[in-house]
Amino acid sequence: MPKFLYEALPCRVIFGVGSLERLSEEVEQLGAHHALVLSTPEQADEARGISERLGKKSAGVFAKAVMHVPIETAEAAREEAKRLGADCCVAVGGGSTTGLAKAIALVSELPIIAIPTTYAGSEMTPIWGLTAEGIKKTGRNLRVLPRTVIYDPTLTLTMPPSLSGTSGMNAIAHCVEALYAEDANPIISLMAEEGIRALAASLPIVVKEPRNLDARGNALYGAWLAGMSLGAVGMALHHKLCHTLGGTFNLPHAETHTAILPHAVAYNAAAAPDAMRKIAKAVGTSSAALGLYDLAIAVGAKMALKDFGLKETDLDRAAELAIQNPYYNPRPVTREGIRRLLDDAYHGRRPIETA
Ligand code: NAD
Repeated sequence: MPKFLYEALPCRVIFGVGSLERLSEEVEQLGAHHALVLSTPEQADEARGISERLGKKSAGVFAKAVMHVPIETAEAAREEAKRLGADCCVAVGGGSTTGLAKAIALVSELPIIAIPTTYAGSEMTPIWGLTAEGIKKTGRNLRVLPRTVIYDPTLTLTMPPSLSGTSGMNAIAHCVEALYAEDANPIISLMAEEGIRALAASLPIVVKEPRNLDARGNALYGAWLAGMSLGAVGMALHHKLCHTLGGTFNLPHAETHTAILPHAVAYNAAAAPDAMRKIAKAVGTSSAALGLYDLAIAVGAKMALKDFGLKETDLDRAAELAIQNPYYNPRPVTREGIRRLLDDAYHGRRPIETA
């Protein structure tokens, strides 16, 4: 048994169909009285419904969350929280909305109740992100970790099948990299393996039957475990590549994770055989990379980066950026190797595991 360090992050989790009904009690549990409800413009109706449910415990609704938390949006939300005298934030939505609540908490220490409606996993991490002048900065601070998370699968029933598939693959990517993380530990590895298993089993059902509550519950359970994995250990090449492609080339978050994952896994296969065995077993195949590629196809994902607006002429620059300040990775990161990986992902080829 290798040496390891495990640090449990403090967070109260309420899981299950109908758990949203406990929201008002959970606001009280925090000792709060005026919750600012946050959402994207697309989920403003849900946010208003939640605000009504809270009655006097709602300070109001701020439905302007957008992807990557632009600093202007963060500042407007911080002002609104102050103006309304909010003493906690309720974030209903995906990573963009949770990210906005984190931006408020970073400067105010307002506690967050997160009600996730995608599988992104931000609700389980102390990682914040803010974008100013086109550059996204991220950092770790325990004050942004949601104090309470309410996982109610009912709220995921409206997630479109295409987002459900790619958001679920994004969650699997957290589990995959946790299994070969530099600071991997046996507790998180158990969660990561179980997270992949739950997501791989449920996602093909979710995309075919988006209103199947049982499958939605399993997928959300897997997403919770994936978020725990992301929040607990460091990520590697896959997340570095997706960060570069999202940040510099503005590629969509979950879709990019889906297209890159099988290639990042193929790249690392020979250097992380134990992780590969666990991934393959959890997906129910003999090859981790091919199993993940086939799963992505089964959930209807587009696998070619060229379909998301990346140009072939961007690949050299993307490879260059991805090898700068590299994250830890089990296999050494070379410019030539990354350029080849990106070329395969650009064309959406089936991955080839290389030594
Ligand atoms: P998102 O939050 O941007 O949501 C995408 C769209 O889907 C939005 O319009 C949203 O309103 C809508 N939507 C969400 N749930 C829905 C539902 N159930 N029904 C109908 N529509 C729904 O997407 P995301 O993938 O969840 O989050 C991506 C962002 O989160 C990125 O900016 C990423 O960097 C960040 N993120 C951060 C962390 C972290 O730990 N800090 C972790 C994961 C992701």
